[in-house]
Amino acid sequence: MLPRIAEGALGALAITEAVGGSDATAMTTRFRPEGDEIVVDGGKVFITSGDVADFLLLFGKWEGIADPKGAISLLVIERQAVQGYKVLRLEEKLGHRASSTAALAFEGCRVPRANLIGAPGDGLKLLFAALNRSRPSVAAHALGIARAAFGDMVAYANDRRSSGRRIVDFQANQFTIADAATDLAMAEAWLDYLCGVMEDGEEGYGLESSMAKMRASDLAMRIATDAIQMHGGYGYIQDYRVERLFRDAKITQIWEGTNQVHRQLIGRSFARRD
Ligand SMILES: Cc1cc2nc3c(=O)[nH]c(=O)nc-3n(C[C@H](O)[C@H](O)[C@H](O)COP(=O)(O)OP(=O)(O)OC[C@H]3O[C@@H](n4cnc5c(N)ncnc54)[C@H](O)[C@@H]3O)c2cc1C
Repeated sequence: MLPRIAEGALGALAITEAVGGSDATAMTTRFRPEGDEIVVDGGKVFITSGDVADFLLLFGKWEGIADPKGAISLLVIERQAVQGYKVLRLEEKLGHRASSTAALAFEGCRVPRANLIGAPGDGLKLLFAALNRSRPSVAAHALGIARAAFGDMVAYANDRRSSGRRIVDFQANQFTIADAATDLAMAEAWLDYLCGVMEDGEEGYGLESSMAKMRASDLAMRIATDAIQMHGGYGYIQDYRVERLFRDAKITQIWEGTNQVHRQLIGRSFARRD
């Protein structure tokens, strides 16, 4: 799979189900071993590129393991090589419209047993390891949006005039810009630090990843909102990029663990275990 991905094949990650995304352990998709194959039944929602991906990393529960967390397992599905992989619908979204978001169903979908990653029941461990590595990329995505919105806001504030002055010369607007510039610098520095930790091959940066994802995505939403405000009415119409940045920022607070879940993870890590 990896050589194909390196050549440009598309992958998708399928965790979320209709029963709830925050509680991944509630998933109901089933993996039933049958000889050299695994039979998959169930469904996923909100899967980015789920309709066009060449490979799907699919989480489900191994039949025969009673513990709901211990049963979670991970399979690779090659979309075009299997039967019973169905795209039920494509979502119409607020933002992030350049990529598709699909609801999927698996009906008696047979996958070679060799496609199981690790052993039955390894899924949760693999899930956490994967999310710890991918959350910094959500932070980078969010900071890209925040940086773009900041640039647009500053440029507009320097060009636009009101009451005979540039709007950047009003102190209220300078305070908005000052807060955004400072918070952006801090969040970018934290992400740089975290990437250094990851590149050094260190383990155990889940908390730092949560912090980066949560702060960067909240910042993207705030700066995109401030950028619209700085544009006045023009920020609300589609002629200016800030309208799109605002819509695209929102998803970064939701996916890869909502920010409420990240706050809970970070806060809980400081609770003493008596
Ligand atoms: C455009 C888009 C693309 C996506 N792409 C993918 C993808 O490729 N693969 C994939 O697997 N999923 C994907 N998702 C799903 C996404 O990760 C989930 O939507 C997200 O994890 C939240 O799950 P939920 O929507 O079921 O909300 P719920 O889990 O039902 O949460 C609803 C609300 O309750 C809050 N809440 C829930 N539990 C707690 C708690 N324990 N503590 C505090 N608050 C809580 C949440 O913060 C949220 O505000 C995508 C979603 C969207 C919208």
